[in-house]
Amino acid sequence: MTSPLPRRRLPAHLGRLARGLADGLAGLAYPTLCLGCESRLPDPADALCATCLRGLPRADAEAATRLLAGDPAVDSAVALWAYDPGGIVRRVQHALKYGGRPALGVPLGRALGLAVATTGVRIDAVAPVPLSRLRALDRGYNQGATLAEGVADSLGVPALDLLVRTRPTRSQAALSAVDRRRNVDGAFALAPGARVAGRRVLVVDDVLTTGATLAASARPLAEAGARVHVAALALAGG
Ligand SMILES: [Zn+2]
Repeated sequence: MTSPLPRRRLPAHLGRLARGLADGLAGLAYPTLCLGCESRLPDPADALCATCLRGLPRADAEAATRLLAGDPAVDSAVALWAYDPGGIVRRVQHALKYGGRPALGVPLGRALGLAVATTGVRIDAVAPVPLSRLRALDRGYNQGATLAEGVADSLGVPALDLLVRTRPTRSQAALSAVDRRRNVDGAFALAPGARVAGRRVLVVDDVLTTGATLAASARPLAEAGARVHVAALALAGG
């Protein structure tokens, strides 16, 4: 990679330091418990103990590929775990998204990065699906960005904000497959100054349901000449 790419606004090590301090202070008052078995975790950045992590249901290896197979912007797709309503994967995803614990994203992202590496796909940079500014302000962080950091770390490549939102979108949760596509169609654009031609970019998100969000995120990157791969922590309904 020769030309400059936009860096994340806060240098990654400062972000990690700040989160580490915050988690460390919180850990003094509230020990961090495994979201699966409630055993005490030595590292407050973790969501699960090693036993629960190993026991999570893996997603059907071909399901993510099947969901995005018809999309010309997407070269390959990986999902790590099967989203289990009422189960541990759902608890982990909720803690990451709504639990005010963005640091969870880093170790989870590392696990996803390992899954991507085992597929043999080579990646030059990792990009999160951008959150709308309102939602980011409301939540205080983008869980996708911390996931992207972990994925990038395990692949030994940079995490870069290569995408921006062009307009707000509704939550996808209650929408049909057709409405999900309509909701996010054209909602993402290449970040100003991002040069991705000829690069292999991995776009990451927490949950893959119909693939509409990841496909809409992949499009501006593919149109700018990148080869786009997508990866999600969990696959819903697969
Ligand atoms: Zn556990």
